[in-house]
Amino acid sequence: MDGSVKHLFITGGVVSSLGKGITAASVALLLKQRGYKVFLQKLDPYLNVDPGTMSPFQHGEVYVTDDGAETDLDLGHYERFAGVVCTRQSNYTSGRIYSAVIQRERQGGYLGGTVQVVPHITDEIKKAILSCADTGADIVITEIGGTAGDIESSPFLEALRQLRVELGSDNAVFVHLTLLPYLSASGELKTKPAQQSAGIMRSIGIIPDVLICRTEVAMEEEHFRKLSLFCGVARTAVIEEKDVKNSIYEVPLDLAKQGLDSLILGKFNLPENRLDLSQWKAMVARTVNPDCGKVKIAVVGKYMALRDAYKSIFEALSHGAIEQRLDLRVKCIEAEDLQNRDPEELLGRVDGILVPGGFGYRGLDGKMEAVKFARENDIPFFGICLGMQCAAIDTARNKAGLPESNSLEFDPETPHPVISLMDEQKNVVNKGGTMRLGAYPCILEEGSRALEAYGTTDVSERHRHRFEFNNQYREILEKAGLRFTGLSPDGNLVEVIERPDHCWFVAVQFHPEFKSRPLNPHPLFRAFINAAFRGKQK
Ligand code: GLN
Repeated sequence: MDGSVKHLFITGGVVSSLGKGITAASVALLLKQRGYKVFLQKLDPYLNVDPGTMSPFQHGEVYVTDDGAETDLDLGHYERFAGVVCTRQSNYTSGRIYSAVIQRERQGGYLGGTVQVVPHITDEIKKAILSCADTGADIVITEIGGTAGDIESSPFLEALRQLRVELGSDNAVFVHLTLLPYLSASGELKTKPAQQSAGIMRSIGIIPDVLICRTEVAMEEEHFRKLSLFCGVARTAVIEEKDVKNSIYEVPLDLAKQGLDSLILGKFNLPENRLDLSQWKAMVARTVNPDCGKVKIAVVGKYMALRDAYKSIFEALSHGAIEQRLDLRVKCIEAEDLQNRDPEELLGRVDGILVPGGFGYRGLDGKMEAVKFARENDIPFFGICLGMQCAAIDTARNKAGLPESNSLEFDPETPHPVISLMDEQKNVVNKGGTMRLGAYPCILEEGSRALEAYGTTDVSERHRHRFEFNNQYREILEKAGLRFTGLSPDGNLVEVIERPDHCWFVAVQFHPEFKSRPLNPHPLFRAFINAAFRGKQK
């Protein structure tokens, strides 16, 4: 390489939710498997400084990085597909960009000048992109959230236009992801919206180098030619991205078949190197052919109508199943439904029960029912974050004779705050970015299920919570059959609890789902799926 970092920009047109994140992650995987070091970044046009304060109904899951950033869920795809480590640098919002500029203005940093969107906001955006060179990456992939033509994404696109001029066209390459709608009444695949979104990009001053077309049905030669002609993109640079049949992990293989990775490397003037997708292909083959049996897991949460709200949980469950060639069925249960229905009716036929993280009182009683049902019926149980807090409250209420125990989050007056506010949280006023966030070490106890799963006593996991287990209740809950099998290195914070009187009852204060990868399932998800399948065999 000539030393300069290469930048790949991925924009989207026509509609949102086209799968830009999966496309960016797939391209990253392909470039990595051709021997390049890749870093990924997402720029989001909304004004929240980060998605941490948004409802999952608005935004889906908040993905947490090792360095404690609350980020867009696309970063989960980046880490899962390409195995890259995302950081704070991997996600910028307009809110974050504007805050930095306005703060600098207040400090007198602009020396009397008028502060403007161009050049000050666009400079700040360029700085956020160019700073990724520090990661040592050969290629930085930057995905721009939103859709071409949105008012709020225009400063981002303007910054990219400027960068192309400054860096040169072999250092800055544009991929535009667009939609070809299929009209079933006439049986036609339409190219007009894609032509128009490429037109919007042109009016901004960006002619895409590569056009990727999301489509339900196969494209014909005529579509490729038409798009090439009207969008000003070479015929060979029009790529089809058809809906996949079984798993999103098929996307990189489909793109590789059309030579997308070689095409991009050609635009960068970089050598192609050899592409090694053998492990990935084997993993996809296991997904497509789950011939070792079925396993049914209930996930009991409060945003079940929106699958994106628990994205990493569903992915991590699937990783555990893929590895063991199991056909995973996930039963999504709205926690509130458990409050007025017989739990046997909803949970009676599942092989494992998972209660994920969450905030706020709604649905809590249903989650408590789910924990109790799993415990009493010896069904493998996995509690995560709030799910772990529920598990501790369940033992307190139902085994330790403290029926009024609760978390201070839900009942500030409870006589038995088994879950209480962390000391450093007591004076926190601002809501954004102030929880216990990011990776913390945890030491696992000999003889525990957790240690059996991880195979090592020293682990590091990502956190996102304000409340924690109250140590005043350790002894009494221990007497009631709970074991504290994972602690912070100073022994102060409870990170893992288990019930040894149960076939597999493990609950963790952290979020293991963020670290699971299709080629390397998280040990706890692997063990949970395994326990569920074994239990079913019995
Ligand atoms: N609401 C709980 C807390 O803040 C749990 C958070 C979570 O599940 N991520 O501690």
